[in-house]
Amino acid sequence: MSKKVLVLGEAREGALRNVSFEAIAAAKQVADGGEIVSLLFGDAVQSMGEELIKYGADRVVTVEHPHLKHYTSDGFGQAFMEVYEQEKPEAIVFGHTAMGKDLSPKIASKLDTGLISDVTAIEGDGDDAVFIRPIYSGKAFEKVKNKEGLLFFTIRPNNIESLTKDEGRTGDISSVSVDIANLRSVISEVVRKSTEGVDLSEAKVVVAGGRGVKSADGFKPLEELAQLLGGAVGASRGACDADYCDYSLQIGQTGKVVTPDLYIAAGISGAIQHMAGMSNSKIIVAINKDPEANIFKVADYGIVGDLFEVIPMMIEEIKKIKG
Ligand code: FAD
Repeated sequence: MSKKVLVLGEAREGALRNVSFEAIAAAKQVADGGEIVSLLFGDAVQSMGEELIKYGADRVVTVEHPHLKHYTSDGFGQAFMEVYEQEKPEAIVFGHTAMGKDLSPKIASKLDTGLISDVTAIEGDGDDAVFIRPIYSGKAFEKVKNKEGLLFFTIRPNNIESLTKDEGRTGDISSVSVDIANLRSVISEVVRKSTEGVDLSEAKVVVAGGRGVKSADGFKPLEELAQLLGGAVGASRGACDADYCDYSLQIGQTGKVVTPDLYIAAGISGAIQHMAGMSNSKIIVAINKDPEANIFKVADYGIVGDLFEVIPMMIEEIKKIKG
């Protein structure tokens, strides 16, 4: 049966996040030829609609309101429910991002429906689609099928490939006005930490440091390597707990989940809680002094050595290649 699918897009500082395009590709796979309607909420998002159409949305619906400038579950929840009532879709897709993780269970409970969260792959299509999601901190995967009724799932960023951008694609972009009221919290200002550059959750290359980095200064060579590779710096909880870096960089069970093309782990032992956040990376390179370190069990390339010798060598070689 063909399905109308509502896909919640995400924008940050005037730019769409890649997961918005990946969610459209996932929606296509389950829609069975049905309509893909992308949603965008914010205070000035109308201009981003065309990009979503070029990536496969048939139609875009925006809701603009000053209270939607920053995400709040009340504000986005009200906007979503209003559009949902107007559109009455057969399926919903969100990104499994900080926002999606917060909003999706609330919407699922309002709609009294199930939720298949953190999907990393979809096998088959249409009604036969089977959703693959990690369980037990990534030690196993389960395959889930929607038995009946509304299909609602969230996709893990960087796992489902977006469709090729089609510059010639056109579609309708409309706006819905929603009276956002009775908010229990309003965000008046967002104070950014100095984590500039590539977004860790969407980075194609992550250079992560652990307690073996030994100090905040020890992260400098990792930052240089990440910058050379166009990537982001991450960390183990060991490094965060030791105050070598900010908790916003923590990867793992209680931190961010990353799935880059290349993950370089330096001075990280490879605790199960850390691996829950990075073991799905495409290529893993581990640098550790201890040949018995657990991280080597998941590494595609293992370098037994001192990270303070190995990383400068890598930087030098990459600089040579880049000319
Ligand atoms: P260590 O285990 O101390 O390892 C440091 C490594 O550096 C060692 O292997 C050592 O051989 C190597 N090393 C030292 N010097 C050098 C050098 N010069 N060159 C190369 N290698 C060197 N952890 C996370 O990371 N993320 C999480 O989300 C997370 N959530 C948790 C949730 C719970 C409920 C619990 C109980 C724990 C959680 N942890 C998490 C903590 C986790 O169990 C580990 O304690 C932590 O990951 C260890 O960090 P580490 O590998 O940096 O430190």
